[in-house]
Amino acid sequence: MQTVLVAGGAGFIGSHLCKSLLDDNYKVICIDNLITGEIKNLRDLEKNKNFRFINQDLIQLKNLSINKIDYIFHLASPASPSQKSPRSYIKFPVETLLVNSQGTYNLLELGRKHRACFLFASSSEVYGDPTVSPQDETYFGNVNPNGVRSVYDEGKRYGEAVTMAYVRKYNLDARIVRIFNTYGPKMRPDDGRVVSNFINQALKGDEITVYGDGTQTRSICFVDDMIKGLKIVMFSDKSRGEVINLGNPDERTILDLAHLIKKMTNSNSEITFEELPEDDPKTRKPDITKARKLLDWKPEVSIENGLEKTIEYFKRP
Ligand code: UDP
Repeated sequence: MQTVLVAGGAGFIGSHLCKSLLDDNYKVICIDNLITGEIKNLRDLEKNKNFRFINQDLIQLKNLSINKIDYIFHLASPASPSQKSPRSYIKFPVETLLVNSQGTYNLLELGRKHRACFLFASSSEVYGDPTVSPQDETYFGNVNPNGVRSVYDEGKRYGEAVTMAYVRKYNLDARIVRIFNTYGPKMRPDDGRVVSNFINQALKGDEITVYGDGTQTRSICFVDDMIKGLKIVMFSDKSRGEVINLGNPDERTILDLAHLIKKMTNSNSEITFEELPEDDPKTRKPDITKARKLLDWKPEVSIENGLEKTIEYFKRP
């Protein structure tokens, strides 16, 4: 049986990934310091004899008593940009920089020791506020190097650089995925992200808060599609040393998304407009040609179907 280490496995995407890997019959070791992840995301997994949880900070990764690691997914990082959320990377700026730099280095060293395959979860944020759309992997981005979002953007850019250094210098079997906006069950209601905010506001009859005039765009990917993509990238030899965008290219304006969620929840909420956060990207849309051609991956869940499942999740007590 092969062993997979999931760093950040108690988070939204990480916990879905742990479950999916257990279903595929891998032994799964989840490392998380619960800074933004939640133990309740792992509740169903803890009964599984092939699952182990280690509460540890990757910045000071101590000796782990693990005999063999075959694969390492590095998804550990605060990820929400919301200034209003207690969980955002803006509240944990230094931790965010360090988990993506020192934390990535520590995991790469672990990968080297175990001759493991490695996947670094980067982000569409490396493109910053893009001047081209859609964004393909060859675009270098337009990032403010010291603005409020820089701790995440530059953290991810450093994480990519150090991962590629291990590919070139040590021939590590590593790959990088740039994750675009992803949503679905197990998002934190207090995360401050657009989908979780709008659904919860609509269900409660609160104001649906559009930041700016709502003409900025995002392309949102349902979590099940993202998990399939992450596994395909990890378990394929073709992705060795590659950088690959994963996301759903179905681009919508934030105002359209507000109207869609209001309609799908039959909500009477009013749509209101608030100040646009600093450095909020104006557009974001992945070019996924590379993932499609190289790995035959593309998202299959429509926005409407994905939102329906997410709304059901948030309706549950
Ligand atoms: N947004 C919004 N209202 C909210 C939360 C977010 O209008 O209550 C906007 C935000 O300004 C951004 C987009 O929705 O333009 C996506 O924000 P999110 O925090 O989900 O992720 P980002 O793509 O900015 O990392």
